[in-house]
Amino acid sequence: MDAQEKKQLLLDLRYLRMTQIWAENSYCKRRQVGALLVKDKMIISDGYNGTPAGFENVCEEEGGDRSKPYVLHAEANAITKVARSNNSSDGATLYVTTSPCMECSKLIIQAGIRRIVFGEYYRMHDGVDLLCRAGIEIVHLWQHGDQCEPVAITSDNSESHYQEVAKELEVAR
Ligand SMILES: [Zn+2]
Repeated sequence: MDAQEKKQLLLDLRYLRMTQIWAENSYCKRRQVGALLVKDKMIISDGYNGTPAGFENVCEEEGGDRSKPYVLHAEANAITKVARSNNSSDGATLYVTTSPCMECSKLIIQAGIRRIVFGEYYRMHDGVDLLCRAGIEIVHLWQHGDQCEPVAITSDNSESHYQEVAKELEVAR
């Protein structure tokens, strides 16, 4: 890793830490997700998972084991928030605590986001596969205890890396 890459990794780790703090805003009980959009070293938008503006701050259906169908994911909230601003997501980097799902991945591609950094996997990796196909740069900041290993994900290693992460989680359980 050269000096430039080391500097980028430090920045990536700090922004990811910010998304983890931002996720604490979420009222969702099952999983709190935070996202930031960064462009030209500026945070241009932010989001966390939750219901649309004006709706009650409850994410779960009665009984609590399912999310309401109108809950927006953190990425969707960050992208729609920038849509209401004078900023553009074109060419931006998305930092997100959890890897994007299929629905959010479609929005990410169309929003012109060029790079994604995430900290942990969603229960499926089909969204990540789609982002790979779109040629978006994806970095998984893989945490092993207090060590972090940045893994660049491409169509070639997407499946095998996901399996490797799942195996590690299985062993830790
Ligand atoms: Zn999503």
